[in-house]
Amino acid sequence: MSLHGAYDPDNIFARIVRGDMPSVKVWEDEKVLAFMDVFPQAPGHVLVVHKLSRARNILEIEPHELTELAAAVQKTARAVERALKPDGLTVMQFNGEAGGQTVFHLHVHVIPRREGESLGRHGGGMADMDELKAQAAAIAAAL
Ligand code: AMP
Repeated sequence: MSLHGAYDPDNIFARIVRGDMPSVKVWEDEKVLAFMDVFPQAPGHVLVVHKLSRARNILEIEPHELTELAAAVQKTARAVERALKPDGLTVMQFNGEAGGQTVFHLHVHVIPRREGESLGRHGGGMADMDELKAQAAAIAAAL
């Protein structure tokens, strides 16, 4: 999938936003949603999306929606830091297949990092659902 093309309204994250597909939610408001990545690159890996934008990537999103998304990313990162006390945080975002993107609804990764632990494989093993729910609850409690 290149940087240019039509938004697929049935992509996984659109379905999660609509509630057609389950997710482990951390928090949401009328514009943004933060939920746990089911193939985490480190424990506590959260994804943040804009719920109203149909942007596939950073090139397409309206600037005011990008501002809303950025504020949501910061709010999520602050809660992740308070809840999980990581040594560091990696915030990343991919654009186009060649840029490493696999789901074509713009999203930002917030990944807590531990000293000496390298980042897990992108799209690696599936997480334990009970662990994800516990992490989501802890992060939500720290908002
Ligand atoms: P990207 O490669 O930046 O497009 O990231 C897509 C992310 O979505 C990856 O980190 C996947 O692990 C994650 N992912 C894929 N399917 C789901 C899902 N159903 N629920 C939560 N995260 C998902």
